[in-house]
Amino acid sequence: MVAGGAGFLGTNLCRRLLADEGNHVVCLDNFYTGRRENIEPLLENLRFSLLEHDVTEPLTLDEAVDEMYNLACPASPPQYQKDPVYTTRVNVLGTLHLLEAARRIHAKFLQASTSEVYGDPVVHPQAEGYRGNVSCTGVRACYDEGKRCAESLAFDYARMYGVRVKVVRIFNTYGPYMDAADGRVVSNFIVQALRGEPLTVYGTGEQTRSLCYVDDLLTGFLRMMAAEDEFSGPVNLGNPEEYTVLELAEKIIDAVGSKSVIVHRALPQDDPKRRRPDISLAEKKLDWRPAVSVAEGLQRTVQYFS
Ligand code: NAD
Ligand code: UDP
Repeated sequence: MVAGGAGFLGTNLCRRLLADEGNHVVCLDNFYTGRRENIEPLLENLRFSLLEHDVTEPLTLDEAVDEMYNLACPASPPQYQKDPVYTTRVNVLGTLHLLEAARRIHAKFLQASTSEVYGDPVVHPQAEGYRGNVSCTGVRACYDEGKRCAESLAFDYARMYGVRVKVVRIFNTYGPYMDAADGRVVSNFIVQALRGEPLTVYGTGEQTRSLCYVDDLLTGFLRMMAAEDEFSGPVNLGNPEEYTVLELAEKIIDAVGSKSVIVHRALPQDDPKRRRPDISLAEKKLDWRPAVSVAEGLQRTVQYFS
C-alpha cells in the first residue's frame, strides 16, 4: 500500500512497485495535493487498485497488505501552509491511523520523514544524530513538528507493539510527476524557463539545497523496506550535490536553453539557509548512494515538463 500514492513521489513509487510482477499495489489517497491523472493510466493494471480515503479518519483494511509506505502529506511549503492545522492532523492523526492499521494486519511500515526535522540546521552536513533547529511557532512548524511527531509515533509503535517500522528522512527530491503548480523550486524554475517567463528566486538565492533524482530516492525506499527488521533508521536519503538556489536557476536556464531572466522575490519566513545530507549511514546499511547526477536528472525532468 502506498498512502499518498497519487502525489509526486507516490506516483513514481506505485509505478516502480508495479514494474515487479509479483507486486499488487493499493494506492490510498484523498487527492488533497495528488492528481487523479497521475494514476489513471495505472487503473488498467489488474494488480493496481485505488482506495479513496482521508488518513485523518481511522482506517479499516480488508485487504492483505504486507508493506505500507506512508507518503500521505502535502509536501510543498505553499501547500502545507495553506491549512496548517490540517497538515498537523495529517501528520499526527494520519500516521497514527496508518500505524494502527499496520499493527492489526502485521504490515511493515515505512514512514516518509524529511530533512525538515533538522529545521534551519546549524550543523552541516546533517547526519541522523543531529537533533535539529526547528521553530515550533513558525509557519513551517505544522510540517516540521508534524513530521517529528510522526517519527516518534513510529518508534513508539515499534517499542510498544512490535510493529516493524522504517523511517527515511528525505532531502529535496525532483523528477517527473511533480505538480507544475505546487510551488516547489525545481518545478517552478523548469516551467518558468520553458514558458520564457522570469525565474523567481526567493531572497538573494544564496540559500542552498541538495537535489536528489526521484529514481535514486525510490531505490533507497525499496532497500530500506527490504532491510533487516532490526534496522528502523532514521536514515537520510538524498543526494549530497549541493547548490545555491541561484546556481540552480542558472543550471535550469541552461538545461532548457531558455532566454528567461532571473528576478528576486521575498524570502519566505524561516526558509532554511543550508541543507545537505550526510548519507554515510545509508551507504553503510543499505549500500545506497545516488547514481543520477543533477545535470542528468534535470534533463529528464525538463523532458517530462516540456
Ligand atoms: P505530494 O504533495 O505530491 O504528495 C502527497 C500525497 O499525499 C498527495 O497525493 C496527496 O493527495 C496525499 N494526501 C495528502 N493528505 C492526505 C490525506 N489526509 N489522506 C490521504 N492522502 C493525502 O508530495 P510528495 O513530494 O510526493 O511527498 C510525499 C511524501 O514525502 C510526503 O510525506 C512528504 O512530506 C515527503 N517528502 C517529500 C520530499 C520531496 O522532496 N518531494 C522531501 C521530504 C519529504
Ligand atoms: N524557491 C525559490 N523560488 C521558487 C520556489 C522556491 O527561490 O520559485 C526557494 C525556496 O525559498 C527555498 C528553495 O528554493 O529556499 C527550495 O524551496 P522548495 O519549496 O522547493 O523546498 P523547501 O524549502 O521545502 O526545501
